[in-house]
Amino acid sequence: MRILIVEDEQLIARALKEGLEAEGYAVDVCDRGDDGLWQATEQSYDAIVLDLMLPGMNGFVVCRELRANGNTTPIMMLTAKDGDLDQAEGLDTGADDYMTKPFSLVVLLARLRALIRRGPTERPAVLVAGDLSLDPAERECRRGDEVIELTPREFSLLRYLMHRAGEPVSKRDLIEHVWADDDLDDSVIQVYVGYLRRKIDEPYGREAIETIRGIGYRLNATGG
Ligand code: CA
Repeated sequence: MRILIVEDEQLIARALKEGLEAEGYAVDVCDRGDDGLWQATEQSYDAIVLDLMLPGMNGFVVCRELRANGNTTPIMMLTAKDGDLDQAEGLDTGADDYMTKPFSLVVLLARLRALIRRGPTERPAVLVAGDLSLDPAERECRRGDEVIELTPREFSLLRYLMHRAGEPVSKRDLIEHVWADDDLDDSVIQVYVGYLRRKIDEPYGREAIETIRGIGYRLNATGG
């Protein structure tokens, strides 16, 4: 079980870290919003404790960005005082629970445990480009009504390309987001794009995945 704490007040961050570690959790701490967003994107966590007022990027934006990217990790938002954050607004950004400072560590830990038990509540959105669709919750890809079998790697690659449909995606982005392996050779990407094309494009006479010379690829937002 791994928890990310994004909190710029060192005393609170330290108390939370110690409390969670005492319960057997592995804990990472960031003291800036932008660092927290990066960390939560790079690593997989069972829950995130996110302060609202943070340097770099506020907790609202961090939360919204994570959800927009399909990240469904349970998020506990910390707010400075009553009225600092309208509760409904906080929940609208995709936070699962919130606590007002000063809070009791015991209460926070109990509510965090409940959040972790419940797990991700929102299903990630189905991605659509024309008649091409990808359902991350069901791990299913379709062209129209036809289901296309993809390997886990092909699925992740297509998911990332569809998430950024219409935009050029560099090979560097794919290495970071799909393979998470800095030593990966570019040619591996080319091979996997080839596999995908043979499954989602060629049988249907489409060209959804364009090659952008010198950059990488772009998934046509219309599905090709
Ligand atoms: Ca703060």
